[in-house]
Order: sequence, then C-alpha cells, then structure tokens
Amino acid sequence: MVPMTLQEIAEAVGGALHDAPDADVVVDRPGVIDSRLVEPGALFIALPGERTDGHRFAEAAARAGAAAVLAARPVGVPAIVVPDVQDAMGDLARAVLGRLKSPTVIALTGSAGKTSTKDLLAQVLETMDTTVATPLSFNGEIGLPLTVMRADENTRLLVLEMGSRGMGHIAYLTGIVPPKVGLVLNVGTAHVGEFGGGKDSIAAAKGELVEALPADGLAVLNADDPYVMSMAPRTSAPVLTFGLEAGDVRAVDVELDAAGRPSFTLTHQGEKARVALGLHGAHHVANASAAAAVAIGLGASVQKVAKALSSARQLTPGRMDVTERPDGVTVINDAFNANPDSMAVALAALVAMAADGRRAVAVLGEMRELGEESEAHHAELGRLVSQSGVTDLIAVGGAEAALVHAGAVEGGATSTLVPNRDAALDLLLTYLKPGDVVLIKGSHSVGLEDTAMRLTKLD
Ligand code: ATP
Repeated sequence: MVPMTLQEIAEAVGGALHDAPDADVVVDRPGVIDSRLVEPGALFIALPGERTDGHRFAEAAARAGAAAVLAARPVGVPAIVVPDVQDAMGDLARAVLGRLKSPTVIALTGSAGKTSTKDLLAQVLETMDTTVATPLSFNGEIGLPLTVMRADENTRLLVLEMGSRGMGHIAYLTGIVPPKVGLVLNVGTAHVGEFGGGKDSIAAAKGELVEALPADGLAVLNADDPYVMSMAPRTSAPVLTFGLEAGDVRAVDVELDAAGRPSFTLTHQGEKARVALGLHGAHHVANASAAAAVAIGLGASVQKVAKALSSARQLTPGRMDVTERPDGVTVINDAFNANPDSMAVALAALVAMAADGRRAVAVLGEMRELGEESEAHHAELGRLVSQSGVTDLIAVGGAEAALVHAGAVEGGATSTLVPNRDAALDLLLTYLKPGDVVLIKGSHSVGLEDTAMRLTKLD
C-alpha cells in the first residue's frame, strides 16, 4: 500500500480518529478484513459479516500490529470511524489510486473465465511493467478496494476483475476505480437467476464496463460472442477484438495435448507466434486470446505475449486444477463454481484428457443461481453428459442433481445419484482405478472442493 498517515486516511474517507493519540502513525500494509491476516502496519477494516461482525476482532487486530481499524464506531483501539465502512473503502481506494504515478487501470468482466483470464493477463503484464491484480476472485465492492490498496508507488498496471450481480453493479465498481482498458470476455448463463431477462439483461449489465471507458481508452471485445460485440456502440473508446473464429487478435490452429493442454497460433496484423499453455481445457484458448489482446493493445508484441502466455501457470485453486496421483488417477478439481457454460467446457476437457482409453468420471454437483430455468438447465446437463463421452456420472445433491441423473440415464449414460459430498467421496474411494480421469465440479455451496481435496491427498 502507498504509505498514508492515519490523519491522511481519515481525511480521504471523511472519518474521525478515535483512541488514536498519534495521527502521524503510518499505514503501509494493505487493508485486510480478516484479523488473522493482519500484518504490522496494516489497516484492519471492520465489516459486518454474514455470521459475525468485524468490530469484534478490532482488539485482536490491534494486538497483531494493525496501525488502526477502519470502523463504524469506536472500538477501544486506534480507529478511523466512518458512517459506512464499505463506502469508506471505496474512498480510500480512490485516494490510493490518486497517489500512484499514472497507473493504467485494466478492468475485465464476463460470465465465465474472469479469474482465469485475470491470472493469465497478470502474468503477461508482469513481463511488461509492475503489475498488481485482483487476488483469487475478489471481484466485488469489497474485493475491488482491497485490491487497489495492494498497489504501491511502483505499480504501473492495475488489473481488476469485476463481477456483476445485476444492473448498476459494474457502474458502481467503475465509479470507484475508472478503468482505461475494459475487457468483456463473454455473456453466458452464469448467475442468470440474479438478473432476470436472460442474456440480454446480462449483456446490458456487463456493458456498463465499456460505457465507463474514456475516449482515449480501449475496449477489448470478444468477436466470437454477438452479445459482447453488441456492446461496441456503447463505448467512446476504440475497440480491439479477439477470438478464435474472428477478431483483430486471433487464436488459430488450436490443438490439445494428451493432458488436455491447448496450444494455438496467436496472430495480430500479420505477426504470428505459437503459444503452448500450461493450463488444462480448450476454453483457456479464448481466455488466453483475450489476455493477449489486452497486452497487445497496451503495446506488447505478439512474440512477447506468446512467450509470457506459454510460461503462465494456474494461479487460483479450484479452476481446472489437475493433480496426477501417484496411483495413476488424474483428478481435475473444478469445484470452485459451476454454471451450464462452464460445465460444458469442463466436460469437454475431461473427455479430451481421457481420450486415450481412460475412464472419464464426472462428479457433478448442482448449479446454483440459475433462477427459474434452473430445472431445465439441470436436465439439459444430464443429456449433455450422456452425449459427451463421459464413462460414468456421479450426480451429487438433491432434486436438481436428480434431474441431471435422470437426464443422463435417459440419454443412455451410466449414472449414480448420491445425496452429498461425503457420499460421493465414499463411492469414489471404492470405485476409482488407476488410469481414471475424474472431474469434480459443482457450485461452490455444494462443497465439492472438499471432496476434490480429499481425493488429491490420497495415494
Ligand atoms: P466466477 O464468477 O464463478 O468466479 P469466473 O468468471 O471468475 O467465475 P473462472 O473462475 O476463471 O471464471 O472459471 C470458472 C470455471 O468456468 C472454470 O473452471 C471453467 O470450468 C469455466 N470457464 C473458464 N473459462 C471459460 C470460458 N472462456 N468459457 C466458458 N467457461 C469457462
């Protein structure tokens, strides 16, 4: 974090100092909302949580060395007290941004692949200039300011993942940190239940990102997605497109190796270079070409981008994390989240990785947040499984998992329905054989990450 005194922070957020005898104490570590992660010199931010209230941990944070607490009321230790802690986080992020030396803010959104693309992009941009990027999937109104607070005086490129939970959400985020470059990956069915009105309203909400760009900025759009391309008239910034089928920056001649890792030729204005990704799944080609387009738009050569992409690694756990167990079982942990689009790409990756005669086992939990079409999407997933080449399905959960199971059986697939993750694990322990490739995927709340972790720890 750019060093700021308590007084400077209080002024930036319109707060008052309490129990803080020395207003010149310096905060030089990024803000944290978990008192267990406090480092000496950090600002502890007391937020009300779902289960507990951050204010209860103010003392623990102070003991761990927090320079002060950003809080909604006095807490008995040095604090900057504000009417609304979340608003104050946004104000502080703006103040930090104002102290950076001409940073370029790059924001990205999309229905699927935000975190993977953000990780790829950060690894490419790091080869160009000092970069700070959203950690994990901290892509909302809390995560965004926390990310900005990680920047310091040397940060030149700031990569911000922006999730959208409905109309106005991205506009709120870009209001805190106005981006210069905006990337829209795709418009799919993720979180469709939170929007209402289907893909058109998702596109309307995600398009808020390109509306926020200045005329000397850059909108990077997916040429293969008509919903994304329909956003072009909504920006005053020039548009650079990417894609597999079309685009200024293109990924062509895609191949998958036996482990499901894609390679492709990256092209832009006659320049070409081969990229071999270390990540698993054909869907990463679109993510990589999106990241490439941003870097190229910022002045990198195709050669340089291809080299950086080829050395990029999976940074965030739970997204197509591949573990080769010593007993010859391959576990694909994609249990961080699930929606119909990401289920389809993950199943394609599973089948590709089992192409040499191995058993392809899909352990699929329910997909949440799909709204009124949820049942239809689950039945459709079952049908997709039966057509995809998966050897065996284990459907995990209640009524909606039963629909996946029924759809798969109807399509002729072998499927077992189990009620929860523990039952899934028990079944897998007796079922898996050396050589099997097993995909674990479901919405976060199904908790299949735990199943995946337990499976990867076995040998
Ligand atoms: P969330 O909003 O749920 O955090 P996200 O948009 O950040 O998701 P990632 O975390 O990168 O997306 O990827 C989640 C899953 O979505 C991946 O594990 C994969 O199954 C799928 N996925 C990733 N990229 C794409 C893509 N370009 N198209 C479709 N599905 C994708």
